[in-house]
Amino acid sequence: MTVRHQLLSGEPILFAPDRSVRPNAFGNAPEPACPFCPGQEHETPPELARIGDPWRVRVVPNKYPASAHHEVIIEAREHDAQFEELDATEIVRTYRERYASVDAKYVALFKNHGALAGATLRHLHSQLVALDFVPPRIERERRAFERGCPLCDAARINVIDENETFVRVAPEAATMAYQQWLIPKRHAAEMTSLARDADLAAMLQASAARMRRVSESYNWIFVNFPRVERGHWYVDLFPRFGAVAGFELGTGTFIQTIDPARTMEVMR
Ligand SMILES: [Zn+2]
Ligand SMILES: [Zn+2]
Repeated sequence: MTVRHQLLSGEPILFAPDRSVRPNAFGNAPEPACPFCPGQEHETPPELARIGDPWRVRVVPNKYPASAHHEVIIEAREHDAQFEELDATEIVRTYRERYASVDAKYVALFKNHGALAGATLRHLHSQLVALDFVPPRIERERRAFERGCPLCDAARINVIDENETFVRVAPEAATMAYQQWLIPKRHAAEMTSLARDADLAAMLQASAARMRRVSESYNWIFVNFPRVERGHWYVDLFPRFGAVAGFELGTGTFIQTIDPARTMEVMR
């Protein structure tokens, strides 16, 4: 795979043609045997890490990588498990340890759950993609920390719930319907600073359970600011209802119909 750049904006594009042959469990063809299920371990490249024997969490290289280092974190043995039903503390520990283990300009860590969120397999998993450039979103957002911290302020507005380590809020200007942010109470640039995995696990579980009331598909995205001294990391979460449309792609501007007050009510 190679990095190409859009002619006019210069924005990076990962060119990974081998990904076009990925099996798609959500397509029209009959569902293929799931490579993430127990008994199918030989279907994935050799394991990078695991928890438990028999395993409960398994980390493997992506068979169809988007970058030179692309991992899949398989989060449950059961094919139909949902994140909110599991011991999520050890999954969060795996996120944190895998994130810390990769040396790259940026490490993208995210979950695509359900067909509308971009998943091609049903079996619960997250992904980690190492990049040798800082992505445009991070470049744009890092500038916000040059004068103060907007996230420390945002953690006091539209609060849905909180625990000792995190506040879950409905951002005032959401890009996606029912969007939530998990903001660490301790201002730190990266998720390696996380001291209590259980607190993040509880917040992710609460959010996953609420999002699944409105859609079976959701994304969450860990937004880290490596080498940004004043950065404040957070998790961006939203259920998915359909594709991002022409207006959004054409302008980079999102149209929103759900008020933060409504998000607070439905996602509580
Ligand atoms: Zn499976
Ligand atoms: Zn802050």
